[in-house]
Amino acid sequence: MPVPAFAGIDIGGTKISALIVDDGGGVLARGSIPAPVRSGGAAMADAAASLVHELASSAGAEIRAAGVGAAGVIDHETGTIRAASATFVGWTGFPLSRELAESLGVPVGIENDVNAFLLGEAAAAGIRDDVLGVMLGTGVGGAVIIDGELRRGPHGAAGEIGHTPGYSDIVCTCGQTGHLETLASGTSIGRRYAERSGEHVGGAREIAERARQGDADAAAVFRRAGHALGLACASAATLLDLPLAIVGGGVAEAWDLLVPGIDDALRTDAPVSGIPLQIVPARLGGDAVALGAIETARSAALVPTS
Ligand SMILES: [Zn+2]
Repeated sequence: MPVPAFAGIDIGGTKISALIVDDGGGVLARGSIPAPVRSGGAAMADAAASLVHELASSAGAEIRAAGVGAAGVIDHETGTIRAASATFVGWTGFPLSRELAESLGVPVGIENDVNAFLLGEAAAAGIRDDVLGVMLGTGVGGAVIIDGELRRGPHGAAGEIGHTPGYSDIVCTCGQTGHLETLASGTSIGRRYAERSGEHVGGAREIAERARQGDADAAAVFRRAGHALGLACASAATLLDLPLAIVGGGVAEAWDLLVPGIDDALRTDAPVSGIPLQIVPARLGGDAVALGAIETARSAALVPTS
């Protein structure tokens, strides 16, 4: 007898990962493949479907529904990608939900990857009410759960904390100036370090290593990122009465280096409500988006397919 199961798929800019879990949430199989981002939406959907088929068959699982966390702004009415970064060729306008439902033969729920990250983290932490999620990856993304529900906004664009202004005078990847992303993304950590030190040393991980070995420029870049992150969380918390922010993504792996800046921000700019704002690192690592996508799959399973 095949085991009834759900599939959670994380579609990112470099790889596609998937998890197969049983009814109780136990992981039956996991795997990942390189994402064919330059080959168009159909190639991405095919690759994701093949991965799920392969994992399900190796686990002896019968998939009931699948959920996807995907980069880009999602149109929840149609299950298409409304807007996405230029890295993803043929992704904007692609009917991801319908294509995957056809290949997998099951209902498919779709969610923005940062929303899925927060769904996964909030479920793991047992949070049922209000929380901010921030993802410090190649770019900076955000998500908000209010009263236990994701707040997507009328255009699916709520939570874009990375592109809120006022943190620097540096031009952002979006073309505007001063956004949180100019200081706190992995890309920005690399650039800001290069500006200070004159050395191009790759990504946030290498720069974190240098900071731990006593490189003052490297430490300063992380401190500034942590400070901007702390200010952004304090703004969101002040606006929405959020007691907690969960921060994930590659940059957050250097949590110890962000903490001094976060503490600076909370010392001077804590929410005036006096309600303590906790800013904590994510705990699920690379599984968060796929696990959050499984929450979406469970919801999709409850909606009859038309
Ligand atoms: Zn921006």
